[in-house]
Parts: sequence; C-alpha cells; structure tokens
Amino acid sequence: MPSENKSYLNCVHCGKCLPVCPSYNIDFNEFLSPRGRVRIVLTDYADSLLLRPGKIMESMSTCLLCGRCEKVCPNDVNITELVANEKIKLEEFGRKRFSSDKLALNILKNKRKVLLKSALKIANIPFFKKLSGRNSPLPEGKSFIGKRDLIFNADTSLEKSQSSPLKHGQVIMQSADEDGKNIFKAGYFSGCVFNGIYSQISIDTVTSLTKNGVEVFVPKMQGCCGLPFISSGDLKSFKELAVNNALAFKGKKLDYIVTSCASCSYSINKLYPKYFNENEENYTEILDFSKKLISIWAFFNELKKHGIEIKKGKLDKETKAVFHIPCHLSNMPDFKPVTAYEKLIGEPGLIADKIAGLKLKPLKYNYCCGNGGMFNVRHYDLSKKITKRKFEEIKEAAPQEILTSCSGCIFSLKDQSGIVKHNEVIPVNHLIGIYARSLRGEK
Ligand code: SF4
Ligand code: SF4
Ligand code: SF4
Repeated sequence: MPSENKSYLNCVHCGKCLPVCPSYNIDFNEFLSPRGRVRIVLTDYADSLLLRPGKIMESMSTCLLCGRCEKVCPNDVNITELVANEKIKLEEFGRKRFSSDKLALNILKNKRKVLLKSALKIANIPFFKKLSGRNSPLPEGKSFIGKRDLIFNADTSLEKSQSSPLKHGQVIMQSADEDGKNIFKAGYFSGCVFNGIYSQISIDTVTSLTKNGVEVFVPKMQGCCGLPFISSGDLKSFKELAVNNALAFKGKKLDYIVTSCASCSYSINKLYPKYFNENEENYTEILDFSKKLISIWAFFNELKKHGIEIKKGKLDKETKAVFHIPCHLSNMPDFKPVTAYEKLIGEPGLIADKIAGLKLKPLKYNYCCGNGGMFNVRHYDLSKKITKRKFEEIKEAAPQEILTSCSGCIFSLKDQSGIVKHNEVIPVNHLIGIYARSLRGEK
C-alpha cells in the first residue's frame, strides 16, 4: 500500500467539486459525489463507520477515477488516490465470484495475444452474446462490440497491410522514413486496447512517428497498463503488469516511450510511482519507465521544441469534427494549451493544425464520456447515462466525425454513436488516425 494519504482532512465540504463529477451528476446522489466519498474515507479512518460495506463499495466503485474533482478542489484533496486506496482495502473486490467484469479482467491480464484473441472469439458465441448485447445496438442492428471492431479485422489488417510498420507479436525496430534523420528513438507502448482491439490506431501512431523521422521500437512482451486492476482494488495484478511493462522496455536506449492512450499515460505516469517504494525489486525500472513515458501529443511538442518541422498532411475532403478531450488527458501536467487550436482541444492542437481539411468545432462543456475503465463494465447503465449527456453537446455541434485520444473514450463513444442521428452512425476515431490518413493521402 502507498503511504497513507491524509488529504481527506483538508475537505471543507464546500461543494466546488460537485458540478464536475460525472457520477454525482447522474442523480445528484451525495454518496456518489467526491465529497461524499471523502466523508466515507474520513469516517472509515476514524473507525466510526456505520455504513454497510456494500454501501461503501457502491460509492467507491462508481468513481470513474477521472480526476475532474481534483482539478477544481481548492484544498488539494487527492480524491482519486483516496478512492483507489479504499478500493484496495475493500477485499470483496478481489473475492468476487465469476462475473463478466472478472472475466474481462482476466482477459486483459493475459499477455499472450493468442489467448486474448480466443477469449474475444468466445465472447462472440451465443452464450456470451448477452455480454456484448448489453451495449446499445448500432442502427444496423449490430452491437458495437461485435465482430466489426474486434481483432478479427484488426489482425487481418495488421498482417496483410503492406504499409504496416507493425508486425504482429514481433519485436521490431522501424527505421525512419525517406531521408529523415533518426533524431529520436522512441518506444511505443500500445496498451491492451490499441494492441488487441483497435490495432489500426497502433499502426497509425507508428506511421505518424516514422513519417516524422522517428525510429520506433515496439516490444513484444508489453501488456495491459493495469488501470482496470487498480480501479477494481487488485493491487497485486496492477503491480505485476507494471513490472512486466517496465522490463519490456528496459535497456533499449530510448529517448522516450510514447503512448497514444490518455488512460495509459495516467496509469503509468501518475499511478506507477505511487504504488512502488524504493525497497522493492524493480523499483528503478518502474521509475525509469514512468519518467520516460509521454503522450503522443507531448512527444510531438518535444520534436517541435527541438526545431523539428512536423509534417503536414491533407484530407481529400473537408471534414468537420469535434474533439472529445479525455479526462486523463486534460488532467495531465503536460496539458498546457498555447495556440488557438490547442486552446480548443489542448496539446493535440499541434497535430490538428497540421491536417489540411480538418475543421474542428469546440464542445461547449467537454463532459466525461462515461467510460472510467471498469466502471463501464461494472455499472453499464450508469455509464450509458453519462455518455448520453456527452452526446447532447455532440449533437449541438453536428460533426461528421468524433475524434479523441483514449481507448476507453473510443469504446464508450462508439457504443453510443448511433444515438446522435437516427440510423446514422457518426464515426469515432483517434486524432492520430486521421493525421496518419492525411499523411498517407488516403480517403
Ligand atoms: S472541492 Fe475539495 S474541499 Fe470542496 S467539497 Fe470537494 S473535495 Fe471537499
Ligand atoms: S474522480 Fe471523477 S468520478 Fe470520482 S469523485 Fe472525482 S469527479 Fe467524481
Ligand atoms: S488504460 Fe486501458 S487501454 Fe490502456 S492499457 Fe490500460 S486498460 Fe489497456
């Protein structure tokens, strides 16, 4: 366990965190609010808790660990850390019998893609249809987590694509394109979703890097970052996965390790250092890995700082899109918008600016997408209510595409994308996907 966090003592119950909390704003339930959770932690530590464990569990497990409350709290209450620690204390999280979320966690934990693939194939047989069927069907009657998106397609595109710089399950070192000098050597951390489900985004990320003269290393043994485990109170698995990932990149002489998933950044940059202490084996490797990992957007900003001209791309036709800023991106320390586009969407604005034909419209409030890692699995109905609210503002902007930069957000937004216009699905993509498309000159 990390050192005890006493920031709960700072809470003055002012309520400034209430308007930004997605779980509180579903039904205005104080138990599901940041200060409600802080109050539970406070009474728990004071040993005066009268609540049933089930009630505490409900309050903690409905926290999306989005960090929105921390951003506005005037008294520096570390709510996400308090909640994560409370989850770890609630042993029930680890002892649950078979359930769909437990199954999902076991799939994620397995590093061997072949097993991930088989498990997802099983998920498509009738017995498990219920699992996928719980998600809103798209207008054409298919569930969003059906064959269309899963690795069956992604695998084919990885293995068949001539232009793919990623070779499935192999260690690769992709040289920089054209006459570009190999100025930077970067590792690529895909995360489990961009590896096993939306693999095209991994291909697009690596393409965008190599087209800008970066040499990229993709190790085979990387796996899930562990975020779903810590958000379920399973500290042991979280730490095992952290060590696995740190060792996969060890000793490769990389300038940076890049990820295109905002939730992976949050997990590796913010949580890894918190849950290891200096007496533990692999502490140095964990710290090195955590320090070296940066978001794809921060990495492009680094290239710019070094005087490297970021390549421009062009879309074949003008595309009006909105950018959903993931909670785990807007709460990162490197989120410091400067230019007009950056002010609109944060650091990714640098890349959005390089895509001729992309017209980004602002979202009024940038509500949470409702994913929250295991929150979406465990509390699907609540998650859906949050996503619906998100789509109210998307509807207002009437975009042709919805862009974002987090695997969890893509999951939730794709799930609900059919509700914007009847019988018309609005495509959801990663901004790096549209950038790679513009560099390749594809439609
Ligand atoms: S904003 Fe901070 S101090 Fe105010 S109620 Fe929320 S957690 Fe407590
Ligand atoms: S982390 Fe997000 S969901 Fe959890 S209490 Fe804070 S604002 Fe609410
Ligand atoms: S944040 Fe999500 S996508 Fe990224 S590795 Fe963790 S679980 Fe997988």
